[in-house]
Amino acid sequence: MRIRIVSFVILAILIACGQGSDSPTAPETSTPAVETPMGEAVGHFHPKGKPPSKHTIAVLEQSRSTLPFSDKRDFDEAKKGFIAAPESKKIMANAGNVAWDMERYQFLAEGKDFASIHPSLQRQSTLNLNFGLYEVMDGVYQVRGFDLANISFIKGKTGWIIFDPLTAEETARAALELVDEHLGKFPVKAVVYSHSHGDHWGGVRGVVDEADVRAGKVQIIAPRDFMQHTISENVYAGNAMNRRLFYQYGILLPASPFGHAGQGLSQNVAIGNITLIAPTYVVEKDIEELTIDGVKMIFQNTPGTEAPSNMNTYFPDKKAFWSAENVTGVFHNIYTLRGAPVRDALRWSKYISRALHLFGVEAEVMFASHHWPRWGNDRVQEVLRGQRDLYANMNNQVLHWANQGVTINQIHNVYETPEGIANSWFNRDYHGSAKHNSRGVINRFLGYWDANPATLIPLSPADSGPLYVRMMGGSKNIIEEGKKLFDSGEYLQAQEILNKLVQAEPQNQPAKDLLADVFEQIGYQQENPGLRNSYLSGALELRSGIPKGAQIDSAGPDVVRAMSTELFLDFVGIRMDGRKAKGMEFTINLITPDNGEKFLIELRSQTLTNIEGFLADDPDLTIIINRSDLEQTMMGAKKLADQIADGTAKVEGDVGILQQLASTLVVFDPRFEIMPGTGGPATPEDLNDYEYGPLDFRGE
Ligand SMILES: [Zn+2]
Repeated sequence: MRIRIVSFVILAILIACGQGSDSPTAPETSTPAVETPMGEAVGHFHPKGKPPSKHTIAVLEQSRSTLPFSDKRDFDEAKKGFIAAPESKKIMANAGNVAWDMERYQFLAEGKDFASIHPSLQRQSTLNLNFGLYEVMDGVYQVRGFDLANISFIKGKTGWIIFDPLTAEETARAALELVDEHLGKFPVKAVVYSHSHGDHWGGVRGVVDEADVRAGKVQIIAPRDFMQHTISENVYAGNAMNRRLFYQYGILLPASPFGHAGQGLSQNVAIGNITLIAPTYVVEKDIEELTIDGVKMIFQNTPGTEAPSNMNTYFPDKKAFWSAENVTGVFHNIYTLRGAPVRDALRWSKYISRALHLFGVEAEVMFASHHWPRWGNDRVQEVLRGQRDLYANMNNQVLHWANQGVTINQIHNVYETPEGIANSWFNRDYHGSAKHNSRGVINRFLGYWDANPATLIPLSPADSGPLYVRMMGGSKNIIEEGKKLFDSGEYLQAQEILNKLVQAEPQNQPAKDLLADVFEQIGYQQENPGLRNSYLSGALELRSGIPKGAQIDSAGPDVVRAMSTELFLDFVGIRMDGRKAKGMEFTINLITPDNGEKFLIELRSQTLTNIEGFLADDPDLTIIINRSDLEQTMMGAKKLADQIADGTAKVEGDVGILQQLASTLVVFDPRFEIMPGTGGPATPEDLNDYEYGPLDFRGE
């Protein structure tokens, strides 16, 4: 078994608004079915797995009795306009793997209430079982349930305008084939990317041929600063984000009532070939009108909302409003658990408000890149106003509390979404949550420190753990008390002390098992899939270590090609282990003639810097290589040393410098430990199991 991490860049970009992979390598078990007090019999996927406790069941029953289940409009809207679905719920990838599999989530369609899934999350995941081609209105269609996002088709005079061509070439192509089959075959005239997250553009080559784009037959339209943000948002901390996304997206959890139970935005994300064709037309103005193939569109740039580059679209002749991913059927992330710069809830709210007053007051239908449309102006306004208030309340009330001394370490226990907002299904915590978003708002404005000097220079967990264990009278006491707290359902308290013990004694398996039991119950109780997955992933790794054989399979040199040389060089500086560069000092001039760029790269004081547009007068080494050839090195397809040897790159000066540089570079391993004692790669052989992504300097 091997782990393939093909490209950290691609992966990190993909997960921007949500994604995880299928989890083909869940631990294989033959656990007998568990009869829970709720009455359903379902086998847990892990031998140490537990059913929901009576305390967890009580918490979920409480939610079930207070949530607005009588409002069933979402179910009507989700099925309205259904045209057809393919027989198979699987879509195969070019590489031979299953790119998409809705079959895995059919357990949600059995009509059971699972006591191990929050009833609100189960409801959302049931809605997300929708699969196939739908009519939004005459001339507007969507394929839903083929990927994390929807793909939308607007009929022009002669062909299609496609909004958001999914994550993967294969799923986007399958969607277009379904459209061809049921609506007739027409040429694609334009593709619109609503924003910079990968589930909204990665499948573009599945619906258009680049030659047609070059020939001017197909336009690719994107919001302001699309390319910059598409590539840059998640590169520098990419490996850490990938590891964290294993938790947020439950990548190693099997689809199961005890494991992965949907991702809120949809069930999961497709794993296929990720492609990118640069826009031919960028919408620069705040509001801009464009007519393509007879379809009049008014674009509204909404930067700094759900994505740094983002836009809504209004079709005035159809009275149809496309809300991109700014307004969907969820409370979205202000803070993303995988890690990302915190978003601006107030700005988000204001852009929704502007859309409401510009378009929402007359729109008769609103459709989006996730979930189902809303029909009728009353409903459109209800959702727009509701979402506007949700983000504004989050921002204003969290800061209201912060201004009275409530800190980042308390706000999640203080802030509550008002009932008038929380009782709308579309405002529920299916991607963001009040718990982690409220902390995000404080983080945005005040940062991580709560202003208590005791937390200003805290001990590392591995150092504070042993102190607590000693003060609490040793591990036996903690386990005893932890069991009591577990039995009485006081899971957050149990987690507090058991975590100290696990930090102090990473090899103490009974302690890890007990903490895993605690995490599992907390996980079952969460409405938010990111929180649920994080707790259940932590439990899985505490019980049996980081699973081997995870497969995250993606490809697509398009994305690496789009990365700037500066970003590439910055990342080399991040990959450098400064300790290994002690005593090294050199300057390199890098010239890429085909795009006219030049860089001065300097190593001194264990720090690698680069500046574009300058060259050293007397460099230690000059490298002249076309950017198109450098991309081979960036993608890991060719070593720079080989390109020098075969004359592709010309060098002058001390080539030995490259050897020195290579000796300082570290290959980041996306299996680093999150919970102590769960085992990362122990040997170099483990590391060799990887297929390295771009920026691989090994052997140079
Ligand atoms: Zn999305």
